[in-house]
Amino acid sequence: MNQRLHSDIAGLRTLLHQQRAMNRTIGFVPTMGFLHQGHQSLITQSREAGNFTVVSIFVNPTQFGPNEDFESYPRDPERDFQLAIDAGADIVWFPEVTDLYPKSAQTFVTPGDLAKRLCGVSRPQFFGGICTVVLKFFNIIAPDKAYFGEKDYQQLAIVRRMAADFYMDLEVVGGATVRDENGLALSSRNAKLNDAQYQRALWLSKSIAAARAAYARGERDPQTVLEHLKTSCPADGIDIDYLEFRDPVDLELVETLADDSRLFIGCWLDGVRLIDNAQITEP
Ligand code: AMP
Repeated sequence: MNQRLHSDIAGLRTLLHQQRAMNRTIGFVPTMGFLHQGHQSLITQSREAGNFTVVSIFVNPTQFGPNEDFESYPRDPERDFQLAIDAGADIVWFPEVTDLYPKSAQTFVTPGDLAKRLCGVSRPQFFGGICTVVLKFFNIIAPDKAYFGEKDYQQLAIVRRMAADFYMDLEVVGGATVRDENGLALSSRNAKLNDAQYQRALWLSKSIAAARAAYARGERDPQTVLEHLKTSCPADGIDIDYLEFRDPVDLELVETLADDSRLFIGCWLDGVRLIDNAQITEP
């Protein structure tokens, strides 16, 4: 099936009911659109697992703060539809803000400690907004499997926690980060970077490589590695939000680096929000 649906929660549910009646499992890939190969890899992963695959395209207002880029977030629904279908989507769903947040809605999910670190420090509303919209999506679609990228590792961890905390009958599946030929993690916001800014953005992925090299040489002190990464940061235009090594499961800071420690980077580059993360050893 190659179907585009606007709004129409009832129509979406009817289609999914028909698929379940034919014993199809449902795979779900939530996105904010402006799709790239990172999104496509999740869609293909769902398709290859044999799922009837639903992709949502929705820039979720409740995860943006008042001075953030909700209005200027890049959008291109026509292209998104085609890229999602090319990657193996069966349904591409474009809900409206009023579908998911009608005037009558007043319930909001408040995630716990996992949401109070990393991106949650500078964006206190962020993960509550994500959990709220993801819970709405899960209840509308009732997927067997939901796919989230490791590019947004904290989001993946928080959604996994929410699914477990609420005994949701679904599996949250992680997908590896897709990078461009220079190592920069693909992101819809990369479209906002000019050539000079793009070159500076490569500091994020170079930092991952440098951290891995230091660890391979035997360095085990997180602060030593982080100091080195900070001094290599281009002074002009990159404003570091966080640069930390954390445990992959509880996201606590690590005192001694181990094979599964993860480097997390969050920054603004001339006002464009960029994040990246990776395990210190290549998986
Ligand atoms: P977004 O549209 O930014 O909300 O992302 C939608 C989904 O795609 C999320 O689960 C992201 O983690 C995932 N994603 C975004 N960029 C990448 C990437 N470069 N590689 C893999 N997954 C990604």
